Parts: sequence; structure tokens; C-alpha cells
Amino acid sequence: VHGDKGRAVRESTTVAIIGAGIGGLTAAIALDRQGIPVEVYERAPQLNEVGAGIGLWPNAIRVLDRLGVGGHVRALAVPGTSASARTAAGRRLFGMPEDVLHRRYHAPTTAIMRADLQLHLAREYGMERIRLGHEFTGCAQAGDRIDVRFANGESTTAGLLVGADGVWSTVRADVFDDGPPTYRGDTAWRGLASLTADLEPFDDVFETFGRGARFGAFPLSGDRVMWFAGAVARAGEKDGPDPRQELRERFANWHDPIPRLLELSDPERILRNDIYDRPVPRTWSRGRVVLLGDAAHPMGPDLGQGACQAIEDGETLALAVAHHDEVTEALAAYEKVRAPRVRSVARVVGLTGWAAGLRGPVACRVRDQVMAATPSAVRRRQMDAVAGWNPPWS
Ligand SMILES: Cc1cc2nc3c(=O)[nH]c(=O)nc-3n(C[C@H](O)[C@H](O)[C@H](O)COP(=O)(O)OP(=O)(O)OC[C@H]3O[C@@H](n4cnc5c(N)ncnc54)[C@H](O)[C@@H]3O)c2cc1C
Repeated sequence: VHGDKGRAVRESTTVAIIGAGIGGLTAAIALDRQGIPVEVYERAPQLNEVGAGIGLWPNAIRVLDRLGVGGHVRALAVPGTSASARTAAGRRLFGMPEDVLHRRYHAPTTAIMRADLQLHLAREYGMERIRLGHEFTGCAQAGDRIDVRFANGESTTAGLLVGADGVWSTVRADVFDDGPPTYRGDTAWRGLASLTADLEPFDDVFETFGRGARFGAFPLSGDRVMWFAGAVARAGEKDGPDPRQELRERFANWHDPIPRLLELSDPERILRNDIYDRPVPRTWSRGRVVLLGDAAHPMGPDLGQGACQAIEDGETLALAVAHHDEVTEALAAYEKVRAPRVRSVARVVGLTGWAAGLRGPVACRVRDQVMAATPSAVRRRQMDAVAGWNPPWS
């Protein structure tokens, strides 16, 4: 597809990716598919099975399809589900049949345990090729070469360094030095419920908005339901030994099946994360070091687009490198595509987060009325903008 364009880069540049998360591994697979030499360095000594679930939108699933790794994720989707937004009392504010969305965007909307997706991508890339136990500590650029150092005393050289090391990115701290993330003011819980006979199987992906709190659930194949809850809270607040206690209090009077889902969840597998944010840097690269995913633009849980955007970044970066003769040209092209895209998704994310954080009864009533009254054409345009995205190169 790209002919001779980018051949110089492909033949002479080794790309070192820091972080074997969702974005780093997608980038690694995409670079591999383009024939570009790539190494992945991950600080963890092994990739764990534990963790929480994340929602995946069609825009991300189509990227995985194009890379030939979407089948695993598609297999988790529960066909025939619908998506709806509700009030805490259970009133439906609006709904969208999932099969309509599926047809429109050529992919399902589904959810997956983050660790499951990470392991799947790692296996597709080649588990044995990931350099585990390599914590990036710093780098130095000289000409077209970057010397990279790790905490275990090892070092390497690369022609392009990708910081895919998450919201607390050490690459960003080392190269961009623009301060740490800040607490956003809310916290999130995620869990997995195993359905039992006394809970009707349900096929509704829902998100429920209350006062300063929200709850959402995603049916998964195998009679499991992934759920998340969010609430305004002080930084660093901890739950007791059974987090369901805290959640029961917060969500006691919310509509069915919310209290039941909490009861049917394994308390040891409920994760709580305070949400941290940081501004997108003015430019995404410095010389031959570039940022990707949460390292560049954390999005938190609102709208469930953080990992989806990291996946889009990974594919676009590989395509940009494959289509340009110079690394720095490729990085400029990557940013030119990704910066406006991330800005536009972040606007929708910001609006959702703001609406979910409203606490006053009047403000919440107005919010609910606006949600219920928004014409479906407007909602479709918003969905198209997020879920319909494709990269400019193929
Ligand atoms: C509560 C919550 C709910 C969410 N829900 C969703 C959702 O429904 N849908 C969605 O799309 N997104 C969701 N997200 C966001 C999503 O989890 C992130 O956006 C996504 O994981 C970012 O991927 P990443 O590859 O950029 O970073 P990460 O997945 O954070 O991966 C970074 C990797 O880098 C490694 N690393 C870190 N430092 C170093 C170092 N110094 N050296 C080497 N390796 C290092 C880490 O160990 C890790 O493996 C949610 C986030 C939160 C907090």
C-alpha cells in the first residue's frame, strides 16, 4: 500500500515502546504488520490476569479487526442488547438498539476485562518478545539515536521511542517535564457479577445518572455482567474489607438490578481507582520521543473511550511511520491526525463527566430532561463522531 514511501524508516529504525498496556501493544502489533522493527519494554515482571473491565466501542474494534486481532473481542459481545440511559429511579431517558449501532458502525459495542484484552494482544504480538521487568528510568537523544535506560541496569538504543506508559508516564516526566496528573474529584469502582437463576438475564447495557454518582452495566457472554460505579469523593478515600458495604450505602435505592449486581459480585475483585487527569501537551513529541494513549491524553471512565483512543493512537502511529520517509515527519503527521480527534472525543467525554458529576436536585432534573428531550438525530451525530472514526491512511 505504501510502496517505497517510508522504506528508509522501516529499514533503519527500531522503535522502542515503553509500556505493554493496551495502547503500547496495539502499536507494537501495528508496527509489526508494517514490517517496522519494534521492541516492547514493560515494567511489570509479568502480565496479570486480575483487573477490571473496560467498554470497547466500534471505533476500537474496527482497529483490532484491521490488525487481524478483533475476533477475540467480537466473541464476547452479546447480540441483541440495547443501550439506554436512566435515572436512579429507573426511568429510561433514551435508548438505542445495539444491533442498529452494530450495523451502522460495522462492529459491536462490548466490554472485556482489561487484563484479558492485554493478554490477547500480548499473545498476538508474541509474549516471548515482550521485555518484562524493564522499568524505563530515562533517555538521552543524540542525532537520530536515543539511548534508553532501565531500572534493572540494562539499556538499549532506538530510532524512535514511544511513551505508552499510562497516566503516570515516566517518559512524559523525563522528556516533557510538565508536572504530574491531578485528582479530578471522583473515584470509580469496577466489578464483575456472575448471574444466578434468581436474576432475570438482562440484555440492556445501561448507564444510570444520579446525584453526584452513576452506575453502568454491560452484559458479557457466559452470564456475566461487568459493572462500574462512579461518585464524587475525596482523594485517597479507601473502602473497608468488603467494598460492597460502601457501594450498598451509595446505591441502596437505585433501580433494579443495581443492588442485586453488587450482591452477586466477588468483593475481592472489586477495584477502586481515583481518577486522575492532565492536559494534553502542546506537542505530542520531542525530537524522536512521542507519547501515546493515557501518557498523552488520559480520559478516565467517562464514555469508556480511554483505551479505545489508545488503540486508535497505536494504529495511526504505525501508519504514519509507514507512510513517511523521516521519523520526525511521521510524528508530525501522527499528531496532526490524533490531536484534533482526541480533542473532539475529549469534549464529549468532558460533557458526560460534567453531567454525571451534577449533585443539586434541580440541576439533575434539568440534566435528565435535556437528556430525554435530545433529538435522536443529534444523538446519532454525536455517536457518529465517536464511533464512526477511521484513520486517514490504510
Ligand atoms: C475506572 C476506569 C474505568 C475505565 N473504563 C474504560 C472503558 O470502559 N473503556 C475504555 O476504553 N477505557 C476505559 N478506561 C481508560 C483505560 O483504562 C485507559 O485509557 C487505557 O488503559 C490506557 O491505555 P494505555 O496503554 O495508554 O495505558 P495503560 O493501560 O495504563 O498501560 C501502561 C503500561 O505501561 C507500563 N508502565 C508504566 N510505567 C512504566 C515504566 N516506567 N517502564 C515500563 N513500563 C511502564 C504499565 O505497567 C502498563 O502496563 C478506564 C479507566 C479507569 C481508571
